[in-house]
Parts: sequence; C-alpha cells; structure tokens
Amino acid sequence: MRQHATTPTLRVLISGASIAGPALALWLGRCGHDVTVVERAATFREGGGAVDYRGSVHRTVLERMGVLETLRGLDTGMGDQVLLHPDGSERLRLPASFMSGELEVTRGDLARTLYEASLPFARYVFGDSVRTLTEHADGVTVEFEHGPTRDFDLVVGADGMHSVTRRLVFGEESRFRRDSGWFVATFSTDFSTGPAASLGLRDSGVIWNDPGRMVGLANTLGEDGAMLVFHAPGLRHDYRDVAGQREIVRERYADASWSAVPAVLRSVGTAPDFYFDSISQIVMDRWSQGRVVLLGDAAWAPAPGGFGNGLAVVGAYVLAGELAAELAAGRGSQSATGLAVVLRRYEERMRPYVTGCQKQGRGAGPFLAPATAGKLRQRNRIYRMLCSRMMSGFFDRLTTRQAEAIDLPEYPLPACPLAGTVSERSVVDKARAHAVQSQP
Ligand SMILES: Cc1cc2nc3c(=O)[nH]c(=O)nc-3n(C[C@H](O)[C@H](O)[C@H](O)COP(=O)(O)OP(=O)(O)OC[C@H]3O[C@@H](n4cnc5c(N)ncnc54)[C@H](O)[C@@H]3O)c2cc1C
Repeated sequence: MRQHATTPTLRVLISGASIAGPALALWLGRCGHDVTVVERAATFREGGGAVDYRGSVHRTVLERMGVLETLRGLDTGMGDQVLLHPDGSERLRLPASFMSGELEVTRGDLARTLYEASLPFARYVFGDSVRTLTEHADGVTVEFEHGPTRDFDLVVGADGMHSVTRRLVFGEESRFRRDSGWFVATFSTDFSTGPAASLGLRDSGVIWNDPGRMVGLANTLGEDGAMLVFHAPGLRHDYRDVAGQREIVRERYADASWSAVPAVLRSVGTAPDFYFDSISQIVMDRWSQGRVVLLGDAAWAPAPGGFGNGLAVVGAYVLAGELAAELAAGRGSQSATGLAVVLRRYEERMRPYVTGCQKQGRGAGPFLAPATAGKLRQRNRIYRMLCSRMMSGFFDRLTTRQAEAIDLPEYPLPACPLAGTVSERSVVDKARAHAVQSQP
C-alpha cells in the first residue's frame, strides 16, 4: 500500500466497497491516511445497470480523482431508445442525451474503476462486516464478524441503503427509509435469440410498459441487459434473500403480454449479477455522530434519477476535502472536536445538494412505470413532448442544473500522480496482488 507523507494521519475504517467507499478510500489513502475498507460480499461486486454523470461538478470530481479518462473509455455509447407499444411495435424514439447523460457507464465498470484506482492506497477486506462500534475518548473500537477487533480514529458507513453502520449508531432502518411503492431489478440477459432478437438492438434500447410495469432492454458494449421497474405498494422483501427476490420478479411479470418477456424472465432465475431493491430514499436529520459518519446511499439514498452515483463521488470528495482543509490549517483533526468540525462542514456543504437530488429522485418510479393506464398515457405524452429538440434541450438543462447545484471548493487534496496513464495501471496490477482479501 503506497502512502503519501502528510501528518497527522488517521486510522480510517470504511464499510462498503461499491461506489462511495472506494471513492473515499482513494482520496484518504492518497492523503496518507491509513485506510481499511471492509466489504460484506466475499469478492468485489460486479453488476448493476447503467449510471450517468452530467455537468461540470461530476466532471471536475472524476477528473481530480484521475478516473475520468478511464471512465470515458468505458462509456456505454448508448444510442437512442425506443418506446414500444404494448404489442412491442415502435411508438417513439427517445434521444440518447435524454436517458444517458454526458457520460454513461455501467455500475459494475464504475465500481471496478474506483476500486482499482484506490487499491494502491487502501487495504481491502472482503467477506467481513462490522459487528459492534464502541466510541471512547481516543477513537472507535470496532468488532468485526470475523476479523480481529481494531481501533480507528474515524469510521465511515458507505454500506448502502441497508447500512449496518447506520443501524448500529443511529437506529433501525425503518426510521429513515421512505419507500415509494416501486421496485427495480437489473440483470444481464441474452436476447440474441427469441422475440427480442428481431428488435436488432445494438448500442440501443427499448422500453415496454403496461400499467405499473416497465421492461427496459438494452444492448451496450456487446452485452444484453434488462431493467425492470414495477409498482407494488405494500410488497415486503428481504434484501438479503436473492432467491426470494428472483421469485418476486418472476411472479410480477408472469402475465405480461409482450412476447419478449418470457425469455427475460428465464434470465431472472440465472443471472449472476441479478440486483433487486425497493425504490426508496434514506432521509436523516444528521449524518454523523461522534467519530462515525455516513456517506452515499447509507446517508441519503436518493432513488434512481437522483444522481446517487454523483452524490457518492461528490460526497467522498467533500468529506476528504474538509478533512484535508482542517489538517492543512494545522488543527488536530484526530481529536473528537477537530473531527466534529470536519463532519459538520461536510454536512453543511452536502445537505442542500442532497435535498435537491432527492427531490428529483422522488419521481423515478411513477415516471418509469406509471401505475394506471391513465397515468401511463400521460407519461407517454410527456415523452413525446420531450422528443422535440427544444424540450429535450430543456430537460437536459434542468437535470444538469441539479447535478451542478453545489459549490465545489478547491480543497488541498493531492492530485492523482499518474492519472489515466499506463503506469497507473501497472501500479494497480502490482497492488492488486497483495491488497485483495487481506485480513484486518
Ligand atoms: C451490486 C450492486 C448493483 C447495483 N445496481 C443498481 C442498479 O442497477 N440500479 C440502481 O439504481 N442502483 C444500483 N445499485 C445501487 C447503487 O450502486 C447506489 O445507489 C449508488 O451508487 C450509491 O453507492 P453506495 O456506494 O453509496 O452504495 P451501494 O452501491 O449500495 O454499495 C454499498 C456497498 O456496501 C456493501 N455492504 C452492505 N452491507 C455491508 C456490511 N454490513 N459490511 C460491509 N459492506 C457492506 C454492499 O455489498 C455494497 O458493496 C447497486 C448496488 C450494488 C452493490
């Protein structure tokens, strides 16, 4: 693990290795802090649908992290998407910019890029989880499910909407989770044969609806993928029971009339990257307590369309930046009071941005899978309107404005020394050999 000399340094534990966790590990590790990332999954988690970045704030943060060029190389190159009639025939064509933003990558590619970029600077531990957190005057004592107990100066919960860190420090998830009544599933599929093959999808997608249900199929970078969104208020699911989730999806779509659906449902049973969850938001009054702070979906899950991935990387930048600024000013941030200042500033800067993104994310389910025939007709009219050049430009500007609705300070954070170069890849390759699956 490489370290850049800056004093003082903190012992930091980050729980969760998806988007927010590795993004923060990259910054804190580069600053010279001693960073451990613990991930519950046994290995790095691939999978997930396409995620997009828009506007100057996302661009600036990804650039400063040194991953922008790598991500551009992984852009899905998604073209137009076609909205279908119930019988599968073409209704209208949605321009690429409407759905895919300025940069669109798959969640798996994004997570892997951040993970690999952070590997030289952080210790990753897979297959473990925090069990207890006990704060005392000098730090936090952390007991793990498997590894030995350790002390840290700062613990960051980047462990997603169902965060264990949040439960241990702030209380039960039900106090903070606002369910919309809609659910989302994404998974890889194969429509090179069967009814969907006739659609000839290549770097393009189709969207099929009936009231309360959506099926999106897309082919990007040579891979076929599906995204299903459906309305099921009151449905309860266990977020750990993947077999049960696959069954829920199969049941919900069993009577869908589109001829392509049965083949898609076969993949529900087998896809290794199957992802399912409720479309929900996490709403909290505060994101930190003592030496424990939440980041990403654990703190503020905004729902699809609310820039969850953008918030995760911007939040990581702001948290690392506020810490660096405090240390650069010569104030001792290892102390509980120094940290309290950092965490308060992080929250003050992020709060209005998060609130705006959550507002935008609130309409995701009802827009993607309108619950009634009347609402579906209304949504289709909106789609048609947005297809006009003037209106699609307006929509683009509206969402980009929200993505840019935060003032990003120039924090005293180290630039990526080897951003996007071949030599960076070789550093990563070497680091990977000893960083994966190490124990705390
Ligand atoms: C495999 C996967 C696929 C996804 N696919 C989609 C998708 O298709 N559409 C969509 O809208 N959103 C998807 N998401 C969620 C999306 O990544 C987040 O909404 C967003 O990027 C914010 O990222 P995050 O890092 O804050 O949280 P998340 O991406 O949710 O990551 C949380 C991480 O913490 C880990 N974790 C959970 N509990 C523990 C624990 N106790 N100890 C240690 N680690 C723990 C999880 O395994 C995960 O790696 C997916 C998430 C994952 C993990």
